[in-house]
Amino acid sequence: MLTKKLPPLQSFLVQVSRRAGHVARQQYDVIVVGGGHAGTEAAAAAARVGAQTLLVSQKIHTIGALSCNPSLGGVGKGQLVKEIDALDGVCGRAGDWAGIHFSILNRSKGPAVWGPRAQLDRQRYREFIQSELLSTPRLTVLEGSVEELLVTEPNPEEPGQHRVTGIRLANESHPISASSVILTTGTFLSGSLFMGQTTSPGGRIGDAPSSAGLSHTLRERLGLRTGRLRTGTPPRIVKDSVDLSLAQVHPPDSHSTPFSFLNTHTRCKPEEQLPCYLTYTTPGVERVVKESLHLNCHIQQDTKGPRYCPSIESRVLRFPGRSHRVWLEPEGMTSDLLYPQGLSMTMPPDVQLRLIREIPAMHRAEIHTPGYGVQYDFVCPTQLSPALQVKSTQGLFLAGQINGTTGYEEAAAQGLWAGVNAARWALSMPAVALSRTESYIGVLIDDLVSRGVTEPYRMFTSRAEFRTTLRPDNADLRLTLKGFEEVGCVSSFRYQKAVRVRDSLQDALAALQSLALSPSIWRKKMPDIPMSETKNNVPTGMDILQYNDVSFETMASAFPECLSPYIEFSQRLKIEAVYRPHSEQQRKEIERIQREENMSLPQDIDYLSLPVSLSQEVREILDRVRPSTLGAATRLQGITPAAVVHLLNYVRHTG
Ligand code: FAD
Repeated sequence: MLTKKLPPLQSFLVQVSRRAGHVARQQYDVIVVGGGHAGTEAAAAAARVGAQTLLVSQKIHTIGALSCNPSLGGVGKGQLVKEIDALDGVCGRAGDWAGIHFSILNRSKGPAVWGPRAQLDRQRYREFIQSELLSTPRLTVLEGSVEELLVTEPNPEEPGQHRVTGIRLANESHPISASSVILTTGTFLSGSLFMGQTTSPGGRIGDAPSSAGLSHTLRERLGLRTGRLRTGTPPRIVKDSVDLSLAQVHPPDSHSTPFSFLNTHTRCKPEEQLPCYLTYTTPGVERVVKESLHLNCHIQQDTKGPRYCPSIESRVLRFPGRSHRVWLEPEGMTSDLLYPQGLSMTMPPDVQLRLIREIPAMHRAEIHTPGYGVQYDFVCPTQLSPALQVKSTQGLFLAGQINGTTGYEEAAAQGLWAGVNAARWALSMPAVALSRTESYIGVLIDDLVSRGVTEPYRMFTSRAEFRTTLRPDNADLRLTLKGFEEVGCVSSFRYQKAVRVRDSLQDALAALQSLALSPSIWRKKMPDIPMSETKNNVPTGMDILQYNDVSFETMASAFPECLSPYIEFSQRLKIEAVYRPHSEQQRKEIERIQREENMSLPQDIDYLSLPVSLSQEVREILDRVRPSTLGAATRLQGITPAAVVHLLNYVRHTG
């Protein structure tokens, strides 16, 4: 997988423009508007499901561009990348190809919440995505700006229901028809760029915003509620002008863990990878921010920005007197630039230079490109179904930043799922859904469509109630089989591989379970194991593997005949053994909810003061709707499975 030779970018441009000549009069099943992280996954997924798909993006050479940080994954986000890969998406393999610094974040916590992350070479990432799209059957790529979304007026038999029929490109009179259209326009919808006191229309530096016609159709013709959000990016710094000896070196992990279940290694070996550097802000940084507030119109606006990825202005104003971390990250294997993560800023360029020079490692630093901010429209995502289809417009799907999220991974995850459902809609197949109990993608979509957003939404492990089950290591077992058998977005090659893994793991777990021995035999075979902790009289291999200091490799050397065939799954088996009791408990809870669907809920319950652990939001929904059964409560938007378990326990206990 990693040895494939990528076609040069030039070849991509030539092939795309050759296709462009005869594209305009064709009919497609699915049209995807936008070639960012959501759009590329959407287009590839729709084509994998079997739809004739057209991807239209403003500039071909920016398809797959990383608008902001040159990295992929992290805590919560890494889980999304693993799930996208398990569903045969593109970004995980692109990350393995383009990564130049791999590490697992959160390692001090349990493996369920580890965050696989990679620093990326921007150019390699883009090239991989473009090459992948080029080789995807049934997918055509076209350069162009979509000016208008074509929709029918509501059908008198279905009041309020529009239907999408296609798109019209700028400077083109012919429409292009499709049964489904997916909008993934990112920060481009009514986008404005901010730097100092200057504001200009734009979706990203160097790129025009989406046409006003698109916003008009969404708001005026389809009546969709929209809101406004903002984000920003740091200046890019000339690497040679930074004194890296004044920053702490952070090397990559000594062993690189690939994102993709198809890869056993990453393209860049650990010894070839580049380090990141850590440094801190000084009181001088805070002073420059405060002195220049009157020159910084972005920061003076009320529009909500990303809470968990704030600008340096927001950080010092919110936490005055503190020193803030700044990561200096390579932008590519041979790039001359560094990305200063934590220094997103929107003051005038000369003030940006003054600010960065207040940090000792950057006291002589030069700025290559100044930082800037962007404000854009998003569509309130509660107007979407769990298939990411606009409820009032048949065939219209939205994915990515347009739904109020922030981040590549959140965008890619929605793109994949919108692509799947848009293709299924076009091919007259029923919509498919992912639940909160089986995936982070399910958590993300459920949060968006049932709760909506008031600020840019990003993924955290704490958003997933069943996070010990939704682990990065088992995303293939959770999703690849379903992706092939029920969804239709997974290749048979990947499916066969996942089936082999599943069967081997089942055999290995059975072998561990069948090793039921007395403590004295265990002690004889493995003298170092802490048998005093054993609760079971005849502990099994699974019990022993749960101990902190016992690895599967150690057990396999003590019982080679029985366990050595499974040595390649050592880490997965260790994680499985540690989490199995908890996962079993969660599985039983899920099954219990399903069994108790018809249980009546007393109508006089005082949900607002119920003595169980429920959020205020959940209490208010239950109080307002007063569901008659547990099943009805489960289906309410905004009610989490964990809340249903608490409710079930309460009613059983008091009933
Ligand atoms: P994008 O990646 O923005 O892609 C949109 C695509 O749609 C583009 O290819 C564009 O050309 C195309 N397009 C738009 N309109 C049309 C049209 N009418 N016709 C044809 N094509 C069209 N994320 C973070 O997590 N943290 C950050 O700190 C952060 N900072 C950011 C700072 C800036 C300045 C920007 C621009 C983005 C930032 N992001 C940040 C957001 C991150 O880039 C996005 O979350 C992610 O790229 C969203 O992916 P997307 O696919 O929804 O949209």
